[in-house]
Amino acid sequence: MNDRPALSNLATIDAAHHLHPFSDMKELNARGTRIIERAEGVYIYDSNGRKYLDAFAGLWCVNVGYGRRSIADAAYRQMQELPYYNTFFGTTTPPATLLAQKIASHGGEKLKRVFFTNSGSEATDTWFRMARVYWKVLGKPEKTEVIARKNGYHGSTVAGASLGGMKLMHEQGNLPIEGIHHIGQPYWYAEGGDLSPAEFGLKVARELEEKIDELGEDRVAAFVAEPIQGAGGVIIPPETYWPEIARICKARNVLLVVDEVICGFGRLGAWFGHQYYGVEPDLAPIAKGLSSGYLPIGGVLVSDRVADVMVNELGDFYHGFTYSGHPVAAAAALENIRIIEEEGLVERVRDDIGPYFAEAWKSLEDHDVVGQAESVGLIGGLQLAADKATRRRYAKPDDIGATVRNHCVENGLIMRATGDRMLASPALTISRLEIDEVVEKLRAALDHLR
Ligand code: PLP
Repeated sequence: MNDRPALSNLATIDAAHHLHPFSDMKELNARGTRIIERAEGVYIYDSNGRKYLDAFAGLWCVNVGYGRRSIADAAYRQMQELPYYNTFFGTTTPPATLLAQKIASHGGEKLKRVFFTNSGSEATDTWFRMARVYWKVLGKPEKTEVIARKNGYHGSTVAGASLGGMKLMHEQGNLPIEGIHHIGQPYWYAEGGDLSPAEFGLKVARELEEKIDELGEDRVAAFVAEPIQGAGGVIIPPETYWPEIARICKARNVLLVVDEVICGFGRLGAWFGHQYYGVEPDLAPIAKGLSSGYLPIGGVLVSDRVADVMVNELGDFYHGFTYSGHPVAAAAALENIRIIEEEGLVERVRDDIGPYFAEAWKSLEDHDVVGQAESVGLIGGLQLAADKATRRRYAKPDDIGATVRNHCVENGLIMRATGDRMLASPALTISRLEIDEVVEKLRAALDHLR
């Protein structure tokens, strides 16, 4: 049955044939890639039999934890019954339709429709076109410009990388494409200067208003942001930020797009990040926690405001993917959401394990090299600091973060570093004991910077 070559050869085969995403291949081939073979709960195991606590849920996605047989069973049953059929030409499949209904049941009053994609990046491309189409149908074809944020992340397609505010991504492929503009991020620790977090939150939110004025309200289609900037370093906005953003979008008639790819499906202790921050998006891309990564699937939650135009006035929307609403991925996602509901994982994050994590994470602020350790629900960002008192940062942020991350890995803890910030985003099922393990191991890694 299994004709896989011996695992001892895999690293060599990998170096010869596999180009990895977001990797320096020369460096990776010299180092040798780590081969992850299996996983259970919050632990992953490599081909050398080493065990790691995965405090990152894969890539912010394995919300229900590893090893869920019932998701595998749901996919298996669906694959036998109907492995594939499209949702293009007047057809659907039971899992695709039931999944749309299920997602809508958690989206609140106004987000009632879902357009399916295979990933978060495709979800970005989808809402980007929807936003422009929306205004065009309403007789405002010049309302095409989209405003996003420095250091935001919305995927890796051409539109996704353009909307993202990652300089290194822009430099590869002559991005951003036309019609995309970036404003500042609510990163108080590094950019807040003498302002209080509340003052700074308002100041950066108002950059949106200034940018709309500069471009002209009649030309701006949408503004996009993650509830909490994830890949940019788990940048948690001051509490003044989101209400002001929502106010500006409403006042200026600009669509508000909240990218829920990381924050959706329970991570902040609410079904969606916009609910945590009390704002109502017009469009909300989703992926990751939708299936907990068991199979690739994403989508866009569409508000009645936009859907009414799409459904009643547009005619054909010339957009979609062969695998939009793929029945096997949809069946896996349905079972994933059933688990989140049945085990009360959203409430668990809000009322129990989230507060426990917050306290444990915050306790790291007594360490000499930690400037700030903040979290919401089960997402945490820890700021490394060369001098706590003055908020002075290390001269080489990337090196310092990588050093801490490498010590974590050596000690059996998977964490991510973005510059001089350490990021955590564990499964929503993580136990108190496992959180203690994360914090202890991270603390031991931080000790190496002393
Ligand atoms: N949006 C956000 C906020 C993300 O964090 C990501 C991926 O990390 C994406 C979009 C892109 O999703 P994908 O990698 O599934 O294309």
